[in-house]
Amino acid sequence: MSLHIDGLSKTYPNGVRALRDISLTIAPGMFGLLGPNGAGKSTLMRTIATLQPPDAGSIRFRDLDVLREPARLRAQLGYLPQEFGLYPNMPAEAVLDHFASLKGVTHRGERKALVERLLQQVNLYEVRKKSVGGYSGGMKQRLGIAIALAGAPQLLIVDEPTAGLDPTERNRFLNLLADIGEEVVVILSTHIVEDVRELCAQMAIINQGTVVVQGAPQRILDEVRGRIWRRTVPRAQAEAYKARHQVISTRLAAGSTVLHVYSEADPGDGFEAVEPALEDVYFHRLAAASGGRVPAEA
Ligand code: ADP
Repeated sequence: MSLHIDGLSKTYPNGVRALRDISLTIAPGMFGLLGPNGAGKSTLMRTIATLQPPDAGSIRFRDLDVLREPARLRAQLGYLPQEFGLYPNMPAEAVLDHFASLKGVTHRGERKALVERLLQQVNLYEVRKKSVGGYSGGMKQRLGIAIALAGAPQLLIVDEPTAGLDPTERNRFLNLLADIGEEVVVILSTHIVEDVRELCAQMAIINQGTVVVQGAPQRILDEVRGRIWRRTVPRAQAEAYKARHQVISTRLAAGSTVLHVYSEADPGDGFEAVEPALEDVYFHRLAAASGGRVPAEA
């Protein structure tokens, strides 16, 4: 029932090694693929979606060898790329009707029922007759999901769908994903930690083309429990603390700087233990992967 990725590597002609021996097993349900810009998320998504070949490795979806039989994968795939164009003068209803016929729903009545159900599902039914050129970013993303769902996919890939959405639209969009059938493998790629925290049963963090950590968010949090420490210091002193401690993130708050430190033992110096958040794992892992360099202020 799962998607198995084994030893996937990709180097672009310009020499960028976008994927370095990536192996992942992704079960049905929502899987969060988290990583900073440039980590290789889109490359991985496009490779799974059979839009570009890897240099090495294999991908298996259920019984299917994806790289050998890409057409059979595409028949089961829904893919929402980072950017997609829509004819601005077409109403959503017509757009969906068009994609439903492309997906092979040739019977008119059946297609009409499907389009109506999809419009309801993504909460665009009321605006179905409006041209999509006038839609907000969130509405366009929801229409994108409706298009991706038109072929009743068993594998759904959404690449950075929440970038640029306001919090309300982001929630609405994520809830929509969470409601998609339990049997479907849904891969959500994002650089926003909160996208993954509550909705994804399984996740992976990737950075510089490699998997840094994978597992259930809760288990990943357990790994750093008791090792995350916080102290708020005057802004001017932040650099001095950074020199003394393994600071994994810094955040400005009302003129002060909130430092989070990773340490197996009590670092002293006025730090207090805090319950780890997924952000802490994320920044700790990224810092460790880049040789201790602290990522930019978060
Ligand atoms: P992400 O989606 O995590 O931001 P990408 O997969 O888009 O990461 O990019 C991974 C790396 O590969 C980046 O360094 C990016 O500049 C590079 N890259 C992506 N696409 C291409 C391409 N078509 N040609 C050359 N380099 C690319």
